[in-house]
Amino acid sequence: MSESEYFTTIGLEIHAELKTNTKMFCRCKNDPDEERPNVNVCPICMGHPGTLPYINKEAVKHVLKVGVALGSHLATEFTEFDRKNYFYPDIPKGYQISQYKYPLVSGGSLHGVDITRIHLEEDTAKSSHDTGDYSLVDFNRAGLPLMELVTEPVIHSAKQAGDFARELQLLLRTLKVGEANMEKGEMRVEANISVSKDKNKFGTKVEVKNLNSFRSVERAIDYEVQRHIEVLEKGGTIEQETRGWDENKQSTFSQRKKENSHDYRYFPDPDLPKIKLAEVPEFSRDALAAELPELPWAKRQRFLDMGLKAEDAEMFVSNELYGNFYDKVASQCGDNKKAVQLAANYIATDVAGFVKTSGFDFPAWLTRRNDGAEAFAKLMIMLAEGKLSSRAGKDILKIMFEKGGDPAEIAEREGMLQKNDEASIEALLKPLIEANPQVVADYKAGKESALMFFVGQGMKASKGSANPEVLKQVAIKLISN
Ligand code: ADP
Ligand code: MG
Ligand code: ZN
Repeated sequence: MSESEYFTTIGLEIHAELKTNTKMFCRCKNDPDEERPNVNVCPICMGHPGTLPYINKEAVKHVLKVGVALGSHLATEFTEFDRKNYFYPDIPKGYQISQYKYPLVSGGSLHGVDITRIHLEEDTAKSSHDTGDYSLVDFNRAGLPLMELVTEPVIHSAKQAGDFARELQLLLRTLKVGEANMEKGEMRVEANISVSKDKNKFGTKVEVKNLNSFRSVERAIDYEVQRHIEVLEKGGTIEQETRGWDENKQSTFSQRKKENSHDYRYFPDPDLPKIKLAEVPEFSRDALAAELPELPWAKRQRFLDMGLKAEDAEMFVSNELYGNFYDKVASQCGDNKKAVQLAANYIATDVAGFVKTSGFDFPAWLTRRNDGAEAFAKLMIMLAEGKLSSRAGKDILKIMFEKGGDPAEIAEREGMLQKNDEASIEALLKPLIEANPQVVADYKAGKESALMFFVGQGMKASKGSANPEVLKQVAIKLISN
C-alpha cells in the first residue's frame, strides 16, 4: 500500500494571548515585555482564598470581534466561565478558569476551514526547567487573557494547516487583539493528526504540542503523517496520545498516553457572573462589525484587483506600514495606472530594501514629512511619464529620504531629467554612428543586437540622462536613412 492511498486529517487547537491593559480576572498589568519575574501578581491571580475575580470586558470584546470577522455565532443569550481542575505548578489556583459548554463564539470559518469554537480562558504561569536541578515559575503570565480556537477536523495537509495558522495570526494583528508572535509563545498551535485509508472513517488521532513556529507546525505534521503510515504499513496500530515536537531532532516524541489523560471535573465558576451579551449594547454584532478594520482577505483581494503581484499584495497585507503607505501613494497617483504599479515595486523593493540595508527609519520620515506620500507619488508619475530613468528614480528617492526635497526639484538640480526630445538625441547619436560604420553594417546585415551598442554609447554620452527607448528609435531612424 503506498502513501498516496492514505487520507490525512488534521484539526488545530490554537491558543493566543490577547492584548489588553490588565489580566483576565484581576487588575494586574498585562505586560508581555516585563522581564522581572513575579512582578505583575496579586492575590486574585495567585488564587488566594477569599478573593473574587472579575471579568475583563476588553478581552471578551476581542474574542467577539474575531467571531464577527469569521462569520461565527456569538453566544448572545448565554455564556459562562468554568473551572478546569488539575494540579500543576504553573496554575496557582489548582484550576484554570476556562469555558466548557458555553463558549463565547462557535462556528464560522477562516481560510476555508470550519471553526468549531473560540473560547476565553486564563493563561498559565511560565516555568523554566533549564537552570539546575530545580525549576522556576514566573507568574507574570498567570491569568493573562488567552483565547482558544478549535477547528473542525477538515484540514488535509501540513501546508493547509500552516496557511491557516498564518492567516489567523494576520487576523489577530489586523484586529489589534494580539501580537500572536509564535516565537514568543503569544500564539501556540497544537495539531491533531490522523491518517486513514477510508475517506469516510477517521483514523486514531495523535495530538502534537509545543510547536513554536509555522515551520515546525508543518514539519511536525509531515513527520507524524509519515510515522503513522509506517506504523500501519508494518501492521501496527496508532495509539491515541499526546506527543511533543523536538526542534533539534526534528521529530516527535511520546508525552502522555490516553489512559492517563485528565478528568478535569469541569463545573461553572461560582465566583463569576453568567454573561448575557445581548444586554451589552457594544457587544451587538452591528456595533462590533462597525469597529472592524478592513479584513486581511478583503485587503488582499483589493490589492490583487489593483494588479499587484501576489508577493507584493501579501507584503502590504501583512505589513501595515507599507500597506497604508501604498494606499496613500496610490490615491495620489490619480488614474495613472503605471505610476500606481511602479509605486508597488518601489515600496516593496526599494523602500523596504533601503530600510533593511541602511537602517533607514521610514516611520520617522513619514512623521517628519506629512507630504511624504504626495512626494513619493510625484516621483512615480515622473517615472511613469518617462521623465526619469529608473536609475535616476532610485537616486532621487535616496536623496528624498536622506536630505528631503521635492522630486522634480531634485531631478532639475542634479541634471537627472531624462532627455526625450529627438533633436538633441539625434545630435548625440550622429557622431557615434559615423564613427562606427562596422556596427551599422552589422545591424543592416540583420544583427539586431548591434543596436544596443548605440543605445549603450548614447546613454554613456548623455551621462545616463537620455531615454533609452527614444535612443533606440532615433538610432533605427538614423541608420535606416
Ligand atoms: P479531544 O476530546 O481529544 O480533545 P476533540 O473532539 O475536542 O478531541 O477535538 C480536538 C481537536 O482534534 C479538534 O481540532 C478536532 O478537529 C481534532 N480532531 C478530532 N478528531 C480528529 C481526527 N480523527 N483526526 C484529526 N483531528 C481530529
Ligand atoms: Mg480538546
Ligand atoms: Zn493579579
